[in-house]
Amino acid sequence: MDDRLTCILCPIGCELEVSRVGDKFEVKGNECDKGLAFAADEVLHPKRNLATSVPASGTTARMISVRLTGGVPREMIFPILAEIAKLRPALSVRRGQVLIANVLGTGVDVIATRTLLF
Ligand code: SF4
Repeated sequence: MDDRLTCILCPIGCELEVSRVGDKFEVKGNECDKGLAFAADEVLHPKRNLATSVPASGTTARMISVRLTGGVPREMIFPILAEIAKLRPALSVRRGQVLIANVLGTGVDVIATRTLLF
């Protein structure tokens, strides 16, 4: 099995060619060793982060931007978005404030990304 990936760990953005034979990998195109770990994670345990916004409690005019504190398995993105859609945070939040701890048992929190004080 061959995969082509772009390493996103630094601005160079190496184009990686990943060949998998059994449980072994061969990676070409990486300019440093970080690309090896990136390729293995992407092939074996792909994770994604997400950022979105939700309306503050009692209004649809004030949106509060949120993101995850880390990557989650790709198949968890839509279930987590559904959990986030239920959120109606208070109108005043601080950047980094946890709005959902350990969302759906992933070990990752949903946090506010900016301070809004009213
Ligand atoms: S392989 Fe290394 S040099 Fe290339 S994009 Fe990834 S981190 Fe940057």
